Amino acid sequence: MKIDEIVDSLAPWLAKHRRPAWKPVVVEGDGSPTASKFCGTPWIGPDSPWPDCSVCNHPLSLFLQIDLSDLPGELGGRFGTGLLQLFYCTRDDCQGYGGSEPFADDLSRVRVVHPSGPSVAVPRSPRHKHLPAKQIVGWTRFDDLPTPCEHDELGLVYTYNFENGTLRLECQELNFDVTSRMSECPAEEIANSEPGDKLAGWPAWVQGVEYPSCPKCGGRMTHVFQLDSQNNVPFMFGDVGCGHITQCPEHKEVVAFGWACS
Ligand SMILES: [Zn+2]
Ligand SMILES: [Zn+2]
Repeated sequence: MKIDEIVDSLAPWLAKHRRPAWKPVVVEGDGSPTASKFCGTPWIGPDSPWPDCSVCNHPLSLFLQIDLSDLPGELGGRFGTGLLQLFYCTRDDCQGYGGSEPFADDLSRVRVVHPSGPSVAVPRSPRHKHLPAKQIVGWTRFDDLPTPCEHDELGLVYTYNFENGTLRLECQELNFDVTSRMSECPAEEIANSEPGDKLAGWPAWVQGVEYPSCPKCGGRMTHVFQLDSQNNVPFMFGDVGCGHITQCPEHKEVVAFGWACS
């Protein structure tokens, strides 16, 4: 069976797992302290001071701030309200000392703040100057699909026979069971997640499925935002790593950031 026929046969499975995602539309500039943005100046409150790096103790750089109340209506407010903020240490000396593990709070800090007044004036560290601010002024919708490492769990099971060069592809719910040449049906052509910065959709996992568990309830956290290397933020996570902000669907103040590279 050729890849096109396989994709056609799996249409109901693909439809079931297709999710909307959005690419940010950006303009140069910082915008207001509560604006959705990459880099630039975050909203800072008396109870939510500018966080420092746990390794070098210098102020972290803002990488992303998103106004959760001002997201596409199709999301139905599922991420709650407030400003989601991600900070990260860009100092060369700190790279290699963390940043990739969710909840480690070493080189990164992610949180949801609820602005209650004007932002507290904070002396800007020179560290923040070389990352150009981009305001997020809109979102471009597209359909996203799960990355191959999630297919198994979603009921599309791949059994590779490397000796014969064959792949058995099973989807029980569709009574689909086909064996093809391995080279003719690469998993990423059946369904794959978009790389680059995006809101919602499916994470483009690099190493494997890495949804963290919520420390409060143990539940699986869900994907909120994918921050890729050198996309809107001119920074490289490890060796072209890809980062993900996740959130507990029950505890919307519980957010985590992690990244992985190949
Ligand atoms: Zn640092
Ligand atoms: Zn929870």
